[in-house]
Amino acid sequence: MCSIVKLVVQVRLLPTPEQAAALAATLSACNTAANFASATAFTTGARREYGLRKHVYRELKARGLGAQTAQHVIKKVADAYTTLKANLRNGNYGPPGSARRTAIEGKPIAFRAQAGQPFDDRCLSWQIDTRTVSIWTTAGRMRDIAFTASAEQLTMLAVYRKGESDLVCRDGMWFLCATCQVPDPPVATPEGFMGVDLGIANIATTSDGKRHSGRGLNAVRHRQRQLRARLQAKATKSAKRLLKRRRRKEARFAADTNHTIAKQIVTEAERTGRGIALEDLGGIRDRVRLRKPQRVTLHSWSFHQLGSFIAYKAARAGVAVIYVDPAYTSQACSACGHVDKKNRPGQATFCCTSCGFAEHADVNAARNIAARGVAGWAVSHAADDAA
Ligand SMILES: [Zn+2]
Repeated sequence: MCSIVKLVVQVRLLPTPEQAAALAATLSACNTAANFASATAFTTGARREYGLRKHVYRELKARGLGAQTAQHVIKKVADAYTTLKANLRNGNYGPPGSARRTAIEGKPIAFRAQAGQPFDDRCLSWQIDTRTVSIWTTAGRMRDIAFTASAEQLTMLAVYRKGESDLVCRDGMWFLCATCQVPDPPVATPEGFMGVDLGIANIATTSDGKRHSGRGLNAVRHRQRQLRARLQAKATKSAKRLLKRRRRKEARFAADTNHTIAKQIVTEAERTGRGIALEDLGGIRDRVRLRKPQRVTLHSWSFHQLGSFIAYKAARAGVAVIYVDPAYTSQACSACGHVDKKNRPGQATFCCTSCGFAEHADVNAARNIAARGVAGWAVSHAADDAA
C-alpha cells in the first residue's frame, strides 16, 4: 500500500528590479481587491465562494485582474472566512462576548498589501530545465524570472508538482511555494531498530552512539536572546522590524539544523535496513525538569520539528518509524533493565548500580528506546505474521 502526501516545495525567486516591481504591484493589486471583496462579504453576508463571486467578480475584472486571478482572489477571501468561522467555533479567539472575539467578529478580514497569492498553471508556468518561471502580473506576463532550487527540489517539481503555487514576499525576498503530491514508497520490514534520544546538550543521540551536539545552535539562540532583550527595551518601530527579521533568521537556522540531523539519522537507518524508534514526544516538557536558563532553551527548541522531520524523511525513504513510551528511558539500564535514579550520577553519565554497565547517559537512553522499538514492533505486527 502507498499513500499520497501533499508537500510544499519553496523556491526563492531572483527577479530583476523591474520584475520585482511588477510582482510587488501584482500582490498589492490582488490584496487591495481581496480587501474590497472581504468588505463586500462582510456587509452582504455572502462569504462563500459562489455567492461572493456574484457580488464582486465584475468589479475585480474591471480593476484589471485577469479572470483566473479574480477567481483566486475570491477563493482566497472565501477560504479566509471559512477558516475564521472554524476558529471562532473552536474558541480560538475566546468565548462569545469576549473583547478579542467581539473585535474580530466586528470587522472584515484584512489582507496585508504583500499577503501571499495563489497562482494556477494558466497564470504561472515552470521551466525546470532553465530554472525560470513565467508569471502573470498586472504589468503583463513576466517571463524568465530565475529561481534557485536544490537538485532534490527540481526533481520534485518536475515529477510531482500539481495545482497552485503561492507567490510570497518575506523580508524583501520573493518565494514560490509549490504544492507537490508525492506517493510514499511502501515501508520496508525493519531488521531491528535504531533508537533516537532527543535532548538539549545533545539534540539527538542514536543507540549507535552518534551524538548530534546542540552547542552551535544553543550558542546562536543565546546570542539572539541577548540581542532581543536589548531591542525590546528600545521598542521603536525599526527595532521591532529588526526583531522580526532576527526571529525568522533564528527559525531558519534551527530548521536547517533539524533537517541536517534528520537526514543523517534516516540515511543511517536506511543504509543498515533498520527502522527508527522515537520517544512519544507528547510529554517531553512534563518529563524533563530543568533549571531556568535551560527551560528557555528547551521551550524555544523545536523537538516536535525534529521529530516530524525524521518521520517525514523516513516515510519518504520507506523506513519504518515507531513511537515508544518515554517513561524511565534515562534511568533504566540498557544492559540489565535495572531502574534507579542513582544510575545517573551526573547529567552526562550513566552507571548501573546493579550490573556496573557504564555508558554516556543519552546513548544509554537511546539504547532503551531502540529495545522498546523492537518490542513495540513485534507486538503491533504479531497479527500480520499470524495471517
Ligand atoms: Zn545494569
